[in-house]
Amino acid sequence: MVIAGIPRRKILIPEPRSKFLVVVCPNCGNRQVVFSHATFPVRCLSCGEILVKPTGGKAKILGTIERVLG
Ligand SMILES: [Zn+2]
Repeated sequence: MVIAGIPRRKILIPEPRSKFLVVVCPNCGNRQVVFSHATFPVRCLSCGEILVKPTGGKAKILGTIERVLG
């Protein structure tokens, strides 16, 4: 599974509103690209802090959203 990169060719977009976000880890400041509708917890690659929590719908973003990649 690719977390930091964007595997465009492999992605099936389930909803038109789903997006990729650049999230800043609240713990160490590492920037990471995450999926807004992640169905699995996403951890910071640098320190292991949980950045995204799945909720069944739109994922809960626990870090700071710096940018939306659309
Ligand atoms: Zn971190």
